[in-house]
Amino acid sequence: MGSQKSKDMPTCESEYRRSHIETSFLYMAKIRGAIVVDVEKCKGCEVCIVSCPTKVIALADEVNGKGYRYAYMHNPEACTGCASCAMVCPDSVITVYKVKMDN
Ligand code: SF4
Ligand code: SF4
Repeated sequence: MGSQKSKDMPTCESEYRRSHIETSFLYMAKIRGAIVVDVEKCKGCEVCIVSCPTKVIALADEVNGKGYRYAYMHNPEACTGCASCAMVCPDSVITVYKVKMDN
């Protein structure tokens, strides 16, 4: 009897863990990121481009009022909202949003 209990426990725990991980994954899959760049304050230094793990950001072909090519979401589908770009931007001109998707 005692040995049966000790065999059952890990199974229950691993079932719980597995379902918890699956639930977390499903929740995470519904969150996507988006950034907004204050275009007129961007100086096109490209630090954010290098910092983005999913290669979302590029410099626009157009320039802002100061003559700088500015950062924009070249590949918006890939943004996870990790905020790496906003943390490294020397002028703090990036705002990160987390967007909850319907499916
Ligand atoms: S790090 Fe900031 S200033 Fe530099 S290109 Fe990106 S948004 Fe512009
Ligand atoms: S929030 Fe993360 S994934 Fe999105 S653009 Fe910035 S660095 Fe890239």
